[in-house]
Amino acid sequence: MTRHHHYIGGEWVAGCAEAPNVNPSDTSDIVGLYAQADAALARQAIAAAAQASPAWAASTPQQRFDVLDAVGAELLARRQELGELLAREEGKTLPEAIGEVARAGMIFKFFAGEALRTPGDLLPSVRPGVGVEVFRQPVGVVGLITPWNFPIAIPAWKIAPALAYGNCVVFKPADLVPGSAWHLAEILSRTALPKGAFNLVMGPGSEVGQTLVEHPDVRAISFTGSVATGRRIIAAAAARGAKVQCEMGGKNPLVVLDDANLAQAVEVAAQGAYFSTGQRCTASSKLIVTDGVHDRFVDALRARLEGLKIGHALRAGIDIGPVVDARQLAGNLAHLETARAEGAGAIWGGEAVARDTEGYFQLPALVAQTTPEMAVNRQEIFGPVASVLRARDYDHALHLANDTEFGLAAGICTTSLKHATHFRLHAQAGMVMVNLPTAGVDYHVPFGGTKASSYGPREQGRHAAEFYTTVKTAYLQS
Ligand code: NAD
Repeated sequence: MTRHHHYIGGEWVAGCAEAPNVNPSDTSDIVGLYAQADAALARQAIAAAAQASPAWAASTPQQRFDVLDAVGAELLARRQELGELLAREEGKTLPEAIGEVARAGMIFKFFAGEALRTPGDLLPSVRPGVGVEVFRQPVGVVGLITPWNFPIAIPAWKIAPALAYGNCVVFKPADLVPGSAWHLAEILSRTALPKGAFNLVMGPGSEVGQTLVEHPDVRAISFTGSVATGRRIIAAAAARGAKVQCEMGGKNPLVVLDDANLAQAVEVAAQGAYFSTGQRCTASSKLIVTDGVHDRFVDALRARLEGLKIGHALRAGIDIGPVVDARQLAGNLAHLETARAEGAGAIWGGEAVARDTEGYFQLPALVAQTTPEMAVNRQEIFGPVASVLRARDYDHALHLANDTEFGLAAGICTTSLKHATHFRLHAQAGMVMVNLPTAGVDYHVPFGGTKASSYGPREQGRHAAEFYTTVKTAYLQS
């Protein structure tokens, strides 16, 4: 079996231990053995990044373009092979996995272009004969910590802008999905990056991640993951004056109004809530449906769910792969038990089911006749579980949509321009979708939320420059 080492200072470095990576569609399939780092190896990676910083900060935009463009091109060319690995280690279906690798490739290509367009201003001074130049410089060493549900797209949307703006990177992927991260590192290792400009350290968040968060030489931390971990990181990084950006959980409402195109709304809900096994921070997990269409919508969505094929992520024709691991599956089942105990009137699906391989398969669950206080409407479940709330009218639906601590994405299905326009302004979320699933975003525009979902500047698109650069103002007199 291939052994996969850390990448530190331009060298492949063995770890202090090794961990297997298990296929959630077939637990007898070990995807690979991946080195585990400890705090000492994490510090070694930080030192390597700090040493490489002056050289990479001084690189030309053309050099940065060439590196990022080459990585993007290779990801696009190898999308099938890397998509198979991603589906094997994370469990999303093969078409979704291939799409994710392609998206990662496009993100690298986008930021290759941005390296040539780093924003700045030349302004007149209020004093005669003086000019003012406002320009951006790299932050220095950045620590990037990612979750398991997008094993290559989320690393890409952090690593690509970090390098495009001249920073050096220490990257710690999620423990469950080191394979995609390792291959990304392997591609980066063959570029013209100076040794140490990019480093990969795999291992537990509580040791490797925490070392990045607390180390004085790591000037910025970009994290995506749960609210609980994110809040600890915000406190620790801000306390020592580091920049910090956290993308965290969501409980994303999808409002369906009486005037919606019913077939379209059902498809938007099915895809938004259940595709990728509902394991998306942007999943439409709280469906809010107005009285006039409520019963017809629930019946039609149930029928759609019964038609979905659940199974091994790499098999043809599968709509929904497995849950990522046993812990996550147990958590999903416990959430359904809680909904039952709290008095949810109807629960369809949600059972763990067997297939011809040992995997963590679960039927999509629809929890109806709920009240806003129930945990199923308040907590992020991060699995194939959606709840339904009945609303009297649009105003009530908007109130229910905003009745959450989260604020990542919100959607509405309607044919009313008036309501769509109002919702776009008043939904408390960083991203609003009209007649589209809340999950499913472009790669070249800002991504992020409000309230408990996000902290710090936006990721993706041109807004990424806010986080990955510091602004300098120079006053010049001849
Ligand atoms: P998690 O918080 O358990 O872990 C995320 C990462 O943080 C992992 O790499 C982990 O090893 C690391 N980590 C854990 N403890 C740490 C510590 N003390 N210090 C530093 N790093 C530490 O999250 P997860 O289970 O991997 O991912 C699921 C969560 O991610 C969900 O809540 C989901 O909503 C969220 N998510 C959010 C977005 C977004 O953009 N808003 C996108 C994807 C996933």
